[in-house]
Amino acid sequence: MLDNADISKELAKNLDATNGYLTQFETGTMGHFINGQKVESQGEVFENTSPIDGTVLNKVSGGTTEDIDAAAKSAMAAFPAWRDMDGAKRRKILHNVADKIVERAEEIAFVECMDTGQPLRFMGKAALRGAENYRFFADKSPEATGGNAMPATDHINYSIRQPIGPVGVITPWNTPFMLSTWKIAPALAAGCTVVHKPAEWSPLTAMLLTEIMHDAGVPEGVVNLVNGLGETAGKALTEHADIKAIAFVGESKTGSMIMRQGSETLKRVHFELGGKNPVIVFDDADLERALDAVVFMIYSLNGERCTSSSRLLIQNSIHDEFVEKLAERVKNLNVGHPLDPATEVGPLIHQRHFDKVTNYWDVAKEDGAETKVGGQIADVIKGGLFVEPTLFTNATNKMRIAQEEIFGPVLTTIPFDGEADALEIANSVDYGLAGYVWTGDVGRAHRLGRSLEAGMIWVNSENNRHLPAPFGGMKSSGIGRDGGDYSFDFYMETKNVCVALDSHKVPSLGK
Ligand code: NAD
Repeated sequence: MLDNADISKELAKNLDATNGYLTQFETGTMGHFINGQKVESQGEVFENTSPIDGTVLNKVSGGTTEDIDAAAKSAMAAFPAWRDMDGAKRRKILHNVADKIVERAEEIAFVECMDTGQPLRFMGKAALRGAENYRFFADKSPEATGGNAMPATDHINYSIRQPIGPVGVITPWNTPFMLSTWKIAPALAAGCTVVHKPAEWSPLTAMLLTEIMHDAGVPEGVVNLVNGLGETAGKALTEHADIKAIAFVGESKTGSMIMRQGSETLKRVHFELGGKNPVIVFDDADLERALDAVVFMIYSLNGERCTSSSRLLIQNSIHDEFVEKLAERVKNLNVGHPLDPATEVGPLIHQRHFDKVTNYWDVAKEDGAETKVGGQIADVIKGGLFVEPTLFTNATNKMRIAQEEIFGPVLTTIPFDGEADALEIANSVDYGLAGYVWTGDVGRAHRLGRSLEAGMIWVNSENNRHLPAPFGGMKSSGIGRDGGDYSFDFYMETKNVCVALDSHKVPSLGK
């Protein structure tokens, strides 16, 4: 248990600064941001607590159907001017947003740590990655409407792109700031206006981002924020007739609900959903690098990461040695206060999620897997939702711990014999977001790159993002791709214009 004597100088300094940043949320109730104004609503008020010790960080008013309607109307009214704004001007405004994120990066990171329980060592970079998302899409803004020329003998076809209209963005709680920028920046660069509904368990940095965008010159009504619960505010957003598309990041079963809710208004949807991603380690791999990546990709970000490699498929010939080394590393992980720079694993986001994750400890026993490390509550801070990083070994792929997304610092290892066996195990899940392959065999790397059923494959690497590359999942992990020009395919309509050269014969009827 952490007491005052254990607090490092850095943690004390960060806590001090964080208290200053949190005061802005402490008075009154956090409402919404509609048409350039902060507004309160009549919705039911709920408390937002920190997973670190259960203290109430602020009160939030739950958005109602009326709030969503006001936000959607505001986004609709602002749409024509934003759509028609010169791309170079939009580019400048979005670069301003990035500059202001960088100026407030410490505040964003510290607030995010308190709200989500994510360790500072990752969140510091997340704020800066958010700024990079704005810069990247800012630079693409002037060319967003561009298309292709497709000349034929008697006609010239050319395509242009036009923003689809006001869009709804619904985000989860795991890395809320970064994910919000990943969705909102391309929407704005495309010329769409936005209504954002952030996750109810971590609403703080969404409000900071909205304020930053307005300070940076994003005009009134172009970005609107409505807080609240998924079943009310989220649902109303997906059903609103003025909202032309929904960009959603969250659980697969919520994606199904959103598709149903949006069907009446024929909503275009983009889904980034759950995963049960395999990391496959062959005996010809660089095993030291593989071990680093295996540990990083499940125990960083508290395991609350869609691309986490939550299933380790390990070749029998190296199984025992690799698992022993892995277990040592997992035991050594530093569970602590998220604002302590030394912390590697922080608390889980919410009591309900904590209950879900810890329930899998019993599931693993019932299924007959070995709990090699962890499987216990970690006694770090009173009232905090800390768990020991956990390693389940000798599992089979049929077990629930090998099939279901746990979304915590929990790794399941499964032995395999050869390439065909590994591929069969890797693909035998409902999900298909990411796959990681560690091998020294170039041919095998490419074979698996082709055959693994996942939207993104990393070979001899942890998750490494390149902004122009497509990001997204197949099977139950998603619909559509983000990144580079792929984002514009979602936020824009592609229109074809066909012009005759007056050389062809027009069919003539009724003469
Ligand atoms: P969630 O689906 O419970 O909630 C996500 C958002 O949807 C929240 O804002 C919530 O309020 C809203 N929502 C809930 N019900 C709704 C409804 N009926 N209509 C409209 N909105 C509704 O997900 P979560 O628990 O916040 O996040 C964790 C999940 O997100 C995990 O499954 C994770 O894999 C996934 N995720 C995926 C990616 C990716 O890129 N594929 C990235 C991050 C997280």
